[in-house]
Amino acid sequence: MSTKLVNIKKHQKELSACRRCSDMIQPVITCAEIVSPIMLVGQAPGIHEGRVGKPFGWTAGKTLFKWFSALGLDEEEFRQSVYMAAVCRCFPGKNPKGSGDRLPNREEIINCKYWLEQEYKILQPKLIIPVGKLAIAQYLSVNKLADVVGQQFVIDSPELQIDCIPLPHPSGLSTWFHTQPGKTLLGDALQLIAAHPAWKEVCRSREKYIKKSGDAR
Ligand code: SF4
Repeated sequence: MSTKLVNIKKHQKELSACRRCSDMIQPVITCAEIVSPIMLVGQAPGIHEGRVGKPFGWTAGKTLFKWFSALGLDEEEFRQSVYMAAVCRCFPGKNPKGSGDRLPNREEIINCKYWLEQEYKILQPKLIIPVGKLAIAQYLSVNKLADVVGQQFVIDSPELQIDCIPLPHPSGLSTWFHTQPGKTLLGDALQLIAAHPAWKEVCRSREKYIKKSGDAR
């Protein structure tokens, strides 16, 4: 087992036991224990993810995985190839003042950033895919989605030097990616991901893994 994998397993064990935020609803949602050159960063789990026990385990995930299936990795392959993190790893609860889920507050985002930073250190990823405005805002200054989706950026901060390709949130409540310019910009963003060396690397590794499993039968 590689050192990175040993460290990510240890990291996830510690993360699963985190109780830093008193208003967050457990459990902590973690992804598969894998090493990947790509990190996908969502906002926070929804009400169903706790029961399903994995990120993007409900309706928004169905749309998200449809996007990536078109690039060559189905849901299971994606979960085994791309490290799925989030700005916050616990369910924030329902928005008391309206529809949808409560947005994590500043303190919760800072608390959970600790875990993201550990993952940057362990994985040393080459590409980050923030999904949705809150996640994108952790890496880029964003006013409108249309200003950033469909483009590739370089993040050069003290804790992270990496390429960044933002995606819109695949929520069923969002119409952004069904209408213009969102539809075209989403397509552009997916093409940028498909062309990125880190995506090609995970696809090649997946092909090798499938071939090896087939040979072993
Ligand atoms: S949201 Fe993050 S920091 Fe807060 S309790 Fe959950 S895992 Fe811990």
